[in-house]
Amino acid sequence: MQHFIDLILPIPIQKTFTYTVTEQEANFLKKGMRVAVSFGKTKMYTGLVFKIHTTAPTLYEAKEIHQILDETPIVNELQLQHWQWVANYYMCSLGDVYRASLPSAFLLESETIVYKNETFINENELEDDEFLIFEALQHQSQLTIHQVADILGKKKVMPIVNSLIKKSAVYIKEEIYEQYKPKLVKYIRLNASYNSDSSLNGLLEELSRAKKQRKAVLTYFQLATSKKPIKVKTLSEKAGISSAIIKSLEAKNIFETYEIQTDRVQFSGQENDLKVLNPHQEKALSEIKETFKSKDVTLLHGITSSGKTEVYTKLIQEVIDAGKQVLFLLPEIALTTQIITRLQYYFGNQISVFHSKYSINERVEVWNNILTQQPKTKIILGARSSIFLPFTNLGLIIIDEEHETSYKQFEPSPRYNARDAAIVLAKMHNAKILLGSATPSLESYYNAQEKKYGFVALNRRHGNVQLPKIELINVKEKYRKKEMTGHFSDRLIQLIQDALNEKEQVILFQNRRGYSPIVTCNTCGVSPECPNCDVTLTFHKFKHELRCHYCNYQRAMPNSCAACGSNTLDTKGFGTEQIELELKTLFPDFKIGRMDLDTTRGKFGYQKIIGAFEAKEIDILVGTQMLSKGLDFENVSLVGILNADTMLNFPDFRAHERAYDMMVQVSGRAGRSKKQGNVAIQTYNPFHQILQQVSTTNYTEMYKEQLQERWQYKYPPYYRIIKITLKHRDYIKLDSGVNWLFKALYNSFGEHVLGPTAPSVARIRNQYIKNIIIKIPPKQSLLQTKNQLNNIKSTFEAVKDFRPIRFIIDVDAY
Ligand code: ADP
Ligand code: ZN
Ligand code: ZN
Repeated sequence: MQHFIDLILPIPIQKTFTYTVTEQEANFLKKGMRVAVSFGKTKMYTGLVFKIHTTAPTLYEAKEIHQILDETPIVNELQLQHWQWVANYYMCSLGDVYRASLPSAFLLESETIVYKNETFINENELEDDEFLIFEALQHQSQLTIHQVADILGKKKVMPIVNSLIKKSAVYIKEEIYEQYKPKLVKYIRLNASYNSDSSLNGLLEELSRAKKQRKAVLTYFQLATSKKPIKVKTLSEKAGISSAIIKSLEAKNIFETYEIQTDRVQFSGQENDLKVLNPHQEKALSEIKETFKSKDVTLLHGITSSGKTEVYTKLIQEVIDAGKQVLFLLPEIALTTQIITRLQYYFGNQISVFHSKYSINERVEVWNNILTQQPKTKIILGARSSIFLPFTNLGLIIIDEEHETSYKQFEPSPRYNARDAAIVLAKMHNAKILLGSATPSLESYYNAQEKKYGFVALNRRHGNVQLPKIELINVKEKYRKKEMTGHFSDRLIQLIQDALNEKEQVILFQNRRGYSPIVTCNTCGVSPECPNCDVTLTFHKFKHELRCHYCNYQRAMPNSCAACGSNTLDTKGFGTEQIELELKTLFPDFKIGRMDLDTTRGKFGYQKIIGAFEAKEIDILVGTQMLSKGLDFENVSLVGILNADTMLNFPDFRAHERAYDMMVQVSGRAGRSKKQGNVAIQTYNPFHQILQQVSTTNYTEMYKEQLQERWQYKYPPYYRIIKITLKHRDYIKLDSGVNWLFKALYNSFGEHVLGPTAPSVARIRNQYIKNIIIKIPPKQSLLQTKNQLNNIKSTFEAVKDFRPIRFIIDVDAY
């Protein structure tokens, strides 16, 4: 009998692929193990075993596998079930989910290796670059394409390699390599022959003249009393000796070194008692537990600084005491040391953290620890992709700041919403799920109102500090009365001065990075644009350059206008950098800090700025919306929003909801610990309903009004939305494709198909973009709609002319 396995490959094709295996291999393999296989002509991939069976494929001849990579499964049954749900629901391939889930170090890819052809002799036939490679191969038996690029100092090297192949100087092979390298720490021990007292005395005698070596041995004995393994590093530090001394002792066979594999990220295991809940928190906690008796999902609507985190910790404690795991999801951006430190303070070594700023190796370690149910994985703290980790027995999932847009992945596929996918995951584990926010998403609040979710409110700030006083400042009037200095009204300057006089800190919120978004010519009105995208470039004063925020194109700031030649380029609008500069002139005696995408790059980017602000090294912090994400500073008494209008005038059905969230969340950073804080919002439009609702923190009114509009204009939570995006370099081809598609969809779904429209940035990286929206009314079956859509897509892709057009489906595209 022949044996086969079906594999998931990390490629965007819907189905699995069948390979043949021997009987022995079939008996050894299990679902969830990795095997390396070749696919296509030369490519090698890491496939994941999905099914083991004896049915030969009918459409193609099954190939043999290349190699088995695991001894035991690295993905479990529950995960595979969940992946399948994600693939079905979000209309993508299992391969897409597989690639998004596994740390990339698990996905070995093949690499092209260049070898020297030993029989080649005609060296003088070679061009300069070719000779460099050939020469390198005299010293080294093989080169990766990476190394070739390094040698030549070029990125594009395949033409040169190909020419070498043509001349029969080299040949190439595809090989796979393992990316993950365990971190090994060197330890030291005394050679066993010195275990008796007499031999030891002899040794010390022998070393009596080598003072440093003797010191090393004596220090070793001091350290050895603790009975723990001794790191080489510790010994050399404690004894104050160099590694050369230790090496010479090793050479004399007195010491031996050995290695132990350790995790890259380790925390000290200190644990502290949980805080005593205040009566309101206590009540919320018992209500949450009550709702969990009849509901799987509960929404906790707790105002900013009500102490939601403290309520979470109590729940977490109970779940891990019952022997189950907890997943604590946070928006990526909020995963700062602040929250990590706070939870570690209570749970010490029972927490592991998983997010994108971790290296590939660190992520493999967290994965393996969860897979093998290590004690340090009782609680996982992570960003959206941690829903894909190999959990075995989740008891609770907490989604903090559940309204956050960063839970939704827009690009690349799978385009999933981690909150919604987590709810499904919790079901599979029979776990409970708690959504928490001061500004819940309309959808979640609606589900709570409809009694699909449990609902608990926490309406008091901890310590009964009042919510901040919110003041709207009419800048139109301020400009008219000449009471503006730069972008600051006299009132805001006054409030800042008052706070600074009291030695309190200030946060200023400006929803744009850079110095000034737009450079415009005062003579002809033209603004420099990105050559690859349909957007104007943003001016970055610090580097004196223009940048595209879509494709990262950058160029030096020109001296004159490219359109008319006059040197009247002027900076209009304002960003964080400009505000920072103005502040420096207004408050020269105070320290100003800036937090935006440009100042927080790198692994410790946020940490540095947040740390400096916590340590009061910064008096005024200017930043983009990053500042609204759940940070807790005790000394901030004033929050200023410099221009509320940019948030309100945004062409999106959620713009008003988002503007409300953002303003309430940043306001929530003020006056968290002692006295009531102040919030000042500058606007041209102080009577806008959203600003009125923000100024009274009236969530329910905002909710009711927005819900009304959603119903009227057919949006979620009533109607679902599937967005289709087509992309291509050739505008005419794209246009005919999108028109065909629109007609086909219209025939199926009628008036609920909207479009085709070009997005506000209609070309990115030289690709033109068109969108079509399908709205799905409450009674229409989602499944049937998706099936119909899939059929139309297949027909579309069968048209030869349309095949090169990228076809992107985004389910619940909001
Ligand atoms: P939220 O997440 O709801 O905005 P936090 O959980 O950050 O609020 O709490 C705000 C502040 O109040 C934090 O500094 C927290 O340590 C403190 N706090 C909250 N509850 C308690 C409590 N029961 N005992 C002591 N301090 C508390
Ligand atoms: Zn661009
Ligand atoms: Zn001009």
